[in-house]
Amino acid sequence: MDGAVEMVDTDSAIDWKAMAEKVTPDARPLVHGQRIDVGGGTFDLLSPRDGSLLCAVPACGEAEVNDAVAYARAEQRLGDWPRRSPRGRGEVLAAWADAIEAERVELALLISLETGKPIRDAVGIDLRGVVRAVRWYAALADKLHGDHPDVGGDDVALVSREPVGVVGILTPWNFPLALLGYDVAPALMLGNSVVVKPSEQAPLSVLRCCELAVQAGLPRDALSVVPGLGRVAGQAIGRHPDIDSVAVTGSSATGRAVIRASGESNGKRVWPELGGKSAAVVFKDVRDIGEAARAVAWGAYFNQGEMCTGCSRLLVEREVYAEFMDALGTEIDKLRVGDPLDWETSVGALTTEHQLRDAQLATEEAVAGGGRVLRGGETVAAVAGGRYFAPTLLADAPESSRVFTEEVFAPVAAARPFDDVDEALRVAFSSGYGMGVSVWTSSMDTAFRVTRAVKAGIAWVNCFEGDDLTVPVGGVGRSGYGRTKGTAVLDKYSDVKTTWVRLGDR
Ligand code: NAD
Repeated sequence: MDGAVEMVDTDSAIDWKAMAEKVTPDARPLVHGQRIDVGGGTFDLLSPRDGSLLCAVPACGEAEVNDAVAYARAEQRLGDWPRRSPRGRGEVLAAWADAIEAERVELALLISLETGKPIRDAVGIDLRGVVRAVRWYAALADKLHGDHPDVGGDDVALVSREPVGVVGILTPWNFPLALLGYDVAPALMLGNSVVVKPSEQAPLSVLRCCELAVQAGLPRDALSVVPGLGRVAGQAIGRHPDIDSVAVTGSSATGRAVIRASGESNGKRVWPELGGKSAAVVFKDVRDIGEAARAVAWGAYFNQGEMCTGCSRLLVEREVYAEFMDALGTEIDKLRVGDPLDWETSVGALTTEHQLRDAQLATEEAVAGGGRVLRGGETVAAVAGGRYFAPTLLADAPESSRVFTEEVFAPVAAARPFDDVDEALRVAFSSGYGMGVSVWTSSMDTAFRVTRAVKAGIAWVNCFEGDDLTVPVGGVGRSGYGRTKGTAVLDKYSDVKTTWVRLGDR
């Protein structure tokens, strides 16, 4: 265990609802080390839990983005962060991780209030994720080194990694802090200055978490946060002529918009980590149907199905189709849709109104095409005014229906039977998304046949979401090509420089 936040017994005993009454969210931007007041408009942040107003969020525009980038550039030109020893940078990151851990209750509460996810997952997944990531990259800081290839003769070649400079990071709302950590920690570790534009729906936790970094000793201009609308503040980052690299985690359409903005400005590199429509493929020789059903239920319904790697397309070999659907139904029956602030809730509120509508529409469309609703298919009145949709399982959904081809980003999974590997492969990868695939079989041949054939960033065999900070995560095709985690991320935030020295006569 790398010093991560683990759920402690006292977390389940906290009166989260009473705490929520007392919370006073601060959505002001963090620029030059301070929360600043900005003119201009605001937008309302509504709680997915009950529809109440959480706060008015300042809608930063080009002016605030320009200020944040100017400070970030000044840190690169004159400041000490890019010049500090890697060990020194690692020490600051470690202090930041301590500070996040110390504030885990407040941060988890903000995440749950702004996203609607169960408080238990906010603590156990998001907080754990960000602390682990920051610690992992803190520890890596002084382990990296350049290269010194032998080029012969009287020449000396050095290959070094240098910070790219100013990095923009556009974050989504589904794992606000874990995903922040996966990008911000390595970018800072390598000596860059970072400007974050958090999701409209999840700015509060990101702002507070980044404020803790400055309080933990990060130079004030190494990290800014500008909340705002994607098409305004996000676009301003994509188009900014003085940003060197942008990581965008979001939908495929957003990824394309940022790539376009880069092309129309300074050609900054863009790292899109986008949506997914991952498949689970269950063969008749699956070693344990119950085990597969448990994993698939988690893959489809964890985090209300709001997961880029989520497996919402289920392909099951005909001989075990009925048995598997029964087992999956049993797993769904164990899920508890409820108030995100109840510790026992396993499926909370959907983050946006759009998803709630889309879950309903996509389900209706599948049913109109001949799909059968085996579980769910309707909204749930868990908390008045909130956005709740029952974990939904559709059998025999048409191959062309949206539940099968598009990311619905809700707890809706669709299944179809298949008769041979080729059919499974064709249907599993017909969506153009290439995030992950989960294959269930006891045959090594079948497993490798599928994993070698797939165009996807991740292939799991007899598991779903096997995951560790040491292994990269990301997709191909409509899922983008950016990677997080491990050392694959270094290419996003550092340039490789060759220095060639010719030795003269002595
Ligand atoms: P989104 O695309 O709406 O927004 C992501 C971020 O980009 C937000 O900060 C948003 O304000 C900003 N943005 C939106 N339009 C923009 C524009 N035109 N220019 C610049 N910035 C813009 O995504 P979301 O709804 O917040 O998150 C859900 C999506 O994220 C899903 O598609 C999910 O699959 C994806 N996601 C992918 C990964 C991954 O690692 N591949 C991880 C988590 C989520």
